Amino acid sequence: MTGRILVVDDVATNRIVMKVKLAAACYSVLQADCGEAALRLARSERPDLILLDVMMPDMSGVSVCERLKSDPETADIPVILITALSDSDSKVDGLKRGADDYLTKPVDEVTLLARVRSLLRSSEIQRELRLREDSYAGLGFAEPTTGFDCPGKVALVAPDAATGMAWKRALGPVVGNPLEVLPREHALQTRVQAAPDLFVIAADLATRNEGLRLLSDLRSRPASRHAAVLMILPQGDTERGAVALDLGAGDILYDPFDIGELAVRIEMQLKRKSQSDRLRASVEAGLELAVTDSLTGLHNRRYALRRLDRMMMAPGRGVAVMMLDLDHFKSVNDSFGHAAGDHVLAAVAKRLRNQLRPQDLLARLGGEEFLVAVQDVGSETALDCAERLRRAVGEAPITGPGLDLPIPVTMSVGLAMTQTHGETAEVLLQRADQALYGSKHEGRNQVTVSASAA
Ligand code: GH3
Ligand code: MG
Ligand code: MG
Repeated sequence: MTGRILVVDDVATNRIVMKVKLAAACYSVLQADCGEAALRLARSERPDLILLDVMMPDMSGVSVCERLKSDPETADIPVILITALSDSDSKVDGLKRGADDYLTKPVDEVTLLARVRSLLRSSEIQRELRLREDSYAGLGFAEPTTGFDCPGKVALVAPDAATGMAWKRALGPVVGNPLEVLPREHALQTRVQAAPDLFVIAADLATRNEGLRLLSDLRSRPASRHAAVLMILPQGDTERGAVALDLGAGDILYDPFDIGELAVRIEMQLKRKSQSDRLRASVEAGLELAVTDSLTGLHNRRYALRRLDRMMMAPGRGVAVMMLDLDHFKSVNDSFGHAAGDHVLAAVAKRLRNQLRPQDLLARLGGEEFLVAVQDVGSETALDCAERLRRAVGEAPITGPGLDLPIPVTMSVGLAMTQTHGETAEVLLQRADQALYGSKHEGRNQVTVSASAA
């Protein structure tokens, strides 16, 4: 992974030692020797991560961190504070003021590099999501983000029930979120809706490394894939701490720990989790909108053509494709107005949807033209389906809240079935289109089967 890291320390030798370690891992290194220089470089160079010494003559690292985090230009850059102090109060203070982690001197190289990798990875994901969110917003797909935020749920997976309860009792007064002691075997059984947002897991459960294995398992299941994990390791076990970070733990902490520090780290993880949930939701909403026709809620042409390609690759009796086109729709607009025409289109879409199974493809190709594709059917079933669709649209005039008068419409259909393997979607669509032309030519409100399919 490439990355540019800003090293801030007033002592030149410290910077050089750090630079050697980071350069050996192929990071490029920028340097600053005081707080002011750090703030300036952070803004102008936009490093991917900042290693920040706490004790500096002009300004403490904690204040620098606070200023970085309150400036929107630099707020997203992960910051690791580095200090000779190891008392918990200053650690907690640093974390509360926005630092992403805190390492004590002398900095263990394995831990340092694992932390750097983990922070770069999660900020890369955030950036990627944000970019996509921005591009959807640019296309006019911005969705108002829903205002309700329920408090994140925390699951505690401890080596034994007594330890779990002790954690819960200690955390209760300092963490405002729902806490649950979860036996290991239940951790993998959570459903998507009920999944905890954060798992606090001891590295060793009933057996050594069982917690680490649980972490990998959680990462591979849909219900817990996006959950945050904070791994608790025995004091000094930096080797496995690094492994936990590389396996995808968002944070690690060594036992015995200060409960205040655990509480702050839990809060940080939950905050990060809810931020990425929000981003992911808005990206998914953008994706959904990008493949959906907004008037009818049906899939759009772009999605339909891709999906049809995939349907045609699947094994089975083949694919039936229907081109559907409303008859004399222009006169509906002319007589009742364009808005009424829109209501009719939406109502027709609904009638068609009601006749089809969820796995069938129904899309609005544009205008008053729809596409239906049904997989693994024989020609008789396909013809039945086409007739059913035609009747569903034409049998009763369209009524609805947006319409003053009932509006009668009819629909013509062209049907084509795959004949040989290797036939392209394009050819199949052309045949369906020709059949549709046949229906129009023969007087409309009817189904025509592509001649070569007979
Ligand atoms: P035919 O039976 O030959 O298909 O005649 P038609 O009038 O349906 O076909 P034509 O292609 O000439 O006209 C289609 C009309 O559909 C023209 C356009 O005003 C209308 N139309 C296309 N998209 C929309 C839409 O989104 N909303 C409304 N209200 N009308 C639309
Ligand atoms: Mg038409
Ligand atoms: Mg048309």
